[in-house]
Formats: sequence, structure tokens, C-alpha cells
Amino acid sequence: MIKKKPKYGDDAFLKYAKVIVEHPNYIGMPDPIGERGEIQWEAPSNRKSGKFKDTHHRRREWWRQKAISLGIDPASDSTWISKTAKMIHPFGSKPCKTCGKELNIAYCYPNEHFFKRLKKLAYIDDTFEVSEVEHICDLIARMEKHFGNRIFADLPNLLATSSINIPPVENSLKSWQHFLTRTYIPQEPRMLSPGAMSNPPDRFDGFHSFNRCCRATSDTGRSKENLKTYVTDRRVFEYWVDGDWVAADRLMGQVRSNAIFEKEECFNAQQGGVHPIPCQADHIGPISLGFTHRPQFQLLCKICNSGKNNRMYASDVALLKESEAGGEKVISWFATQIWDLRKNSATNTETSIRLSKLLRDNRHTYMSLLKRILDENHHTFLASLLYLEAADFDLEFVKLRAENHITKYDQLLRSSRTTKYAVEQKSRRIRIAFSSLAEYHRKENRSAYVISNARIEEEIARGLAELQTAKSITLDLDKQIGKILEDKNISEEDLRTLASTLPKVLTSHSKTFASIRTHFENAMTEVGNELNKMWDDDRYVRSAPDEIIE
Ligand SMILES: [Zn+2]
Ligand SMILES: [Zn+2]
Repeated sequence: MIKKKPKYGDDAFLKYAKVIVEHPNYIGMPDPIGERGEIQWEAPSNRKSGKFKDTHHRRREWWRQKAISLGIDPASDSTWISKTAKMIHPFGSKPCKTCGKELNIAYCYPNEHFFKRLKKLAYIDDTFEVSEVEHICDLIARMEKHFGNRIFADLPNLLATSSINIPPVENSLKSWQHFLTRTYIPQEPRMLSPGAMSNPPDRFDGFHSFNRCCRATSDTGRSKENLKTYVTDRRVFEYWVDGDWVAADRLMGQVRSNAIFEKEECFNAQQGGVHPIPCQADHIGPISLGFTHRPQFQLLCKICNSGKNNRMYASDVALLKESEAGGEKVISWFATQIWDLRKNSATNTETSIRLSKLLRDNRHTYMSLLKRILDENHHTFLASLLYLEAADFDLEFVKLRAENHITKYDQLLRSSRTTKYAVEQKSRRIRIAFSSLAEYHRKENRSAYVISNARIEEEIARGLAELQTAKSITLDLDKQIGKILEDKNISEEDLRTLASTLPKVLTSHSKTFASIRTHFENAMTEVGNELNKMWDDDRYVRSAPDEIIE
């Protein structure tokens, strides 16, 4: 009798189980076959009755005898049973019961401790993805290919543990792989994990049926997101601003990893003081104030960058105006009015902070508007504000360099791409944008306030009414998006499916959405006019020089 979906899960696993049960290393294992001729793979300790009630206990005794025969002393070695299981395993690897993937039983896969350290390396960028089921030797081979010889200097720090001394190893892939395989992995280091955990006598072979590949979903519900390294901090996706976020992300990765930026000095270095290199990429116009995602960054040292705190200096305003004069769109649609009315007033530190604060209240008003749209479940329209199609292009910066502490290039080459990574980037953008919109209004301590008057309300009401009318075309999708996003544990798979189909739908409704947006644009123009009148208001004029703008 052959069942389509065997109890043993994946076919590869069943095959493996059959081989193991017959293998001489496991001869004498109690109760290998059940009453209906099936393999008794599992021997739970909690059987209360029946013929196989004592299987667990009897198998434990089998493992004890086996250990002694191998010279392992169960009385003095607390790890005797797992040690024995590893020692007698005939293949050193086993397939996963869920997916069939073959993984090593040795401690050879990088874990979260390792990834945490890896992410801190300056040259790890968005083109470098990591996986928990990639053998450490394969991972370092890939690192060497991507980043060259410099990785060898970092390996001792990446691999260091309190219990293992890393001896000097020659700077070559071969030497390191030799060290890892012969010395490091056998010591079961804290930075690595096995492909399958041992658990005799619960399973026949002494290992969990689910391998590391499926452990995440089967046991802990951890999402793959945690394991990824991203260049762009999620915070820049919390605000719903315009612009080519993918190009900006790519360039930010370049600033981190490309050697041409390594020795560049901080923009503020000429003013004296300490400015450690390498520098970080600073969005000249803060995203949180409504400036667009753009592939242009100012190089700031760690200290200057973290001191900037979402505000602008006069030099930032000047740079932004310069880029604008060159034809670039630096400000998002919802902040255009106040920016245009006041950018020429921001000429020194005080007035630049004043403008930053006006832009913050403008953003707060905008986020409140988006929340109202979200509360009426117009998810599809909201998604149209995210410019997801930016992810469909691969980018190349021609003659990338730094000039006066600013990134420059001669040309930006774009070519179409449809990659898994593009879908992933879109998913991430959708997830962060929607979840932070809901979150934004949960925070109580917002110092900003919402600008409102009758004309603003009127335009918003018109926009919302048109959205209601458009419900007939968006209803299903609104529901679908809402359902995916309201789930506490958002399904990455559903989200990816959405991310790959959504842009097409948005394009087909672009006219409708553009007309609706006009009303919201009118409302935000009016908000800008109101803010403009408050230029001399105490709320904006009085600032401490190092005031933090949230
Ligand atoms: Zn698996
Ligand atoms: Zn600096």
C-alpha cells in the first residue's frame, strides 16, 4: 500500500528512514517496526499503555550500551547520549522531514550571533544576502568573492568565542576552510548551529526530524526577515515620501562598501574637532521631514550624523536648492508648498531649524491624513503612494566618486529586472510603511500638531468621497491587503505574492488615483499656506540650538 503523502513527510526522508533502520550502526535498536509493519521512528517518553509503552526507556538503554562500547562514559559525561548519536551517524547529514533538504548534523551553519557580528562590517551591503542554512565554508567563500581579501582580517573577530582560541591562520580561503572543518566546527562553537539538533532517544537516529531549514516555521515562528541584512534602515521607510528609494538604497550600500569612500572625510571636518572615518551616508534633506529618496548623499562621520537628528542646517538647505536648480525633485508632493514658500528664508542655523520644525508639523498633518485614509480601508490607494515600481530596475552608477564630501556620478544606468530580491524589497516597503502608519498614531508623546481649517477639511472630504466611489474597483484588493497586514505575524509569502502583483493593478488605476490625489494635494497646499503664516510664531522661533526634532 502506497499513500500519496506518507507519514514520514518528504520522500527523501522516508528513504533515509528506511536506510537508517537497516543500517548496522543501529542493530539491536528496540522495536524498530510497529504492529502494522511501519517504521517506529518516534519513541515518545509519555506513552502510558500499549505494546510499545516502554520503547523510549528501552531505547535509552540501547544508547547507553552503545556509548559504553564507544568508550563514552554515561556516568561522567552529561552529553554522552548526543555525543553517541553524532558519532554513530553513518552519513553526517540527513534530509529534513518537512522539505527534504539535506543538512549536516555538525555545527557548521551560521546563527544569529554570527549574523549580528557580520552586519556590523562596513562592507556588507544589500547585494549580500545571508542564509541560516549555508555552510560556513560556503559563506566565507562567497564573502571572499564579493569583498576580497579584507575579509580574512575580520574572520577572527567574527568567529571568536570565549571557549575557542583562534590561532593565526594564513590569509587564504583554503587555510580558513581547513581550520573551520578540522578545528572550529568540531568544537561546536557558539557562533554556529547544527543542521539538525540531537534528541535521542526520541527519534530513531537520535536527531530532530525537522532540520534547521524548517525549524524556523515549525517551532519558533521566527520570520526570515530577522536573518536578512539590509542597507537601508527601516526608519526611512516609515515615512511615505516620494522618490527612487531603490537607487538611494543602492547608493547607500556603495557608500558603505565601496573602497573609494573609505578615506573620505566628514563634510564638517574643516570646522575642526573629531570626525572619525569611514563616513556614513546622510540624506541631505531628512526623509522624516518629507524630502525625497534620492541617490545623493553627504558624507558625515558617525558623530555628526547622529547629532543631526532630523533637522537641517543652512548648508543642507543650500545643497538641496542647488540640486533642485539642477532639475531634481527634492521634496515630496505633500510638502512642496511650505518648502517652496520658505526655502529662501532658511539662511542660518536658527531659520533652518525653524523650517525643519514647520516641515515636521507638515509631515504630522500628512501622516494624520494617511491614517484617516487607512481607517476607511483604502489600502490600494495608499499603496499607490509607495512607488513600488522603483524596485523593477537594476542600477549602475557610472564614475561614482565623492566631490566636496558629496556623492557624485556621471550617469545612472537603469535596466529592467524581475528578481526575487525586487519582490522582497517591495514587500519590505509595503510592510514597513503600513505597519508604521498604524504605529505612528499609537505613540502618545508627539509634540507636533495637525494643521486644519475649513478649506483643508473640504478638500479631504472630497478626496475621501472619490475614494468611496472608486471602491467598486478597489474593494477586493483593499480587503486582501488589509487582511495580510492586520495579521500580527504577517505572512511573508502572502506579502510577496501581493508585492509582485500589486504594481500592475496600480498602473491600471493610475488615472483614477491621480485625480483623487489632486484633492489631497490641494489640502496639503492649504496646510503649507497655514504653516507659512506661522513662520514668526513662538512655536517655531524659539529653539535650543541642539533641539531634537522628532
Ligand atoms: Zn526543511
Ligand atoms: Zn563629522
